[in-house]
Amino acid sequence: MRLGESAGRTDPGRVRRRNEDTFVLDPPLFAVADGMGGAQAGEVASRLTAAAFREYHEADELPPNERLQAIIQEANRRIYERARTDSDVSGMGTTVTAALLTGGRVTLGHVGDSRAYRIRDGELEQLTEDHSLVADLMRSGSLTPEEAEAHPQRSVITRALGTDPEVDVDTVSVETEVGDLFLLCSDGLTTMVADDDILGILSAAPSLDDAAKELVRAANTGGGEDNVTVVLFRVEGDEPVEETLVAPALAEGNGQGDADELEDTLTNLQPVQAPPPGARTPTQPSVEPARPRRKPRWGRRLLWAAIALGLVALLLGGALVGLSRAYFVGADEQGNIVVYQGVPFDIRDGVGLYRERYVSRVLASQLSPEERAALFDHELVSYERARARVAVYEAEAVP
Ligand code: CA
Repeated sequence: MRLGESAGRTDPGRVRRRNEDTFVLDPPLFAVADGMGGAQAGEVASRLTAAAFREYHEADELPPNERLQAIIQEANRRIYERARTDSDVSGMGTTVTAALLTGGRVTLGHVGDSRAYRIRDGELEQLTEDHSLVADLMRSGSLTPEEAEAHPQRSVITRALGTDPEVDVDTVSVETEVGDLFLLCSDGLTTMVADDDILGILSAAPSLDDAAKELVRAANTGGGEDNVTVVLFRVEGDEPVEETLVAPALAEGNGQGDADELEDTLTNLQPVQAPPPGARTPTQPSVEPARPRRKPRWGRRLLWAAIALGLVALLLGGALVGLSRAYFVGADEQGNIVVYQGVPFDIRDGVGLYRERYVSRVLASQLSPEERAALFDHELVSYERARARVAVYEAEAVP
């Protein structure tokens, strides 16, 4: 069993100006990090994580799961320290999902809502459990998968690197078979592209590089509402393979040879350069592989949302005025607890029937899963009542 082809790609998407995702393609070590925080903080957090993967070799001799634990704890320490001492990036955090292939096994280390999948025999199997608010609510049975998909707080994660001096890292180890394909990705892929479409792209693409490009393209076609990052690697048999792609992201670099190492570490983690259109090598088929093109599901969802919204407006009319006096408790993209005015319904990402009225300094991740489930029940209450519900946790959290 050996590592075959591998590929990685990241893209800001069509809505966000910055790309806060980073990936590591350093075979047999792979990772995806999805940073968050205002201004450039998210980028700082995800790149500090990638740098730890590149630089932290103290753990090289440890068994795979301990090695991943040690690297991720090191990344967490670096982000936490930086956030604590640099007010420009205070409150930053990042997810990380990492994979290490050793012998016949792939070991995963995971914090947050980026995911790892194994593709075998035409099936996509999710290997990581999301550390997110909606995943909590689904596990406790208070949300169906369909409700989770449209939930206003679906991007709120309950565990991240950088928020505490220590982080609880999930590790899991799975056996591999020849032909297994592994996918690491940020939620910018999984919220925009259905599992079946991911599978379709992976099976039709002539190479993993093409597959990575197609996955990013599909996320953008589906709306591109978030940064999207994918890392792919395949497990081969022991017989020599014609070509082993070694870290195109690292190998391409910025053409400056061995200039300042840290700078290289950061710049090399930039997206792999796409070849110009028409730059395919003659040996590759110049015709796009035929695959059923599905109508992007986002279009359907938007249509239904528009119809639903029209009905709501027709039926309720002036009642909407009454809803403006309704408030509920949720959390924003940074994870802060927020009192919203309106109703917890998203027409689409970023356009909802609610607006922020009060942002607490307390983070959703500081609450226990039970507390979160109770607080984010979306019960419509008065502003005073909503503030009082938040104040309980603020009193506990303030030193
Ligand atoms: Ca994201």
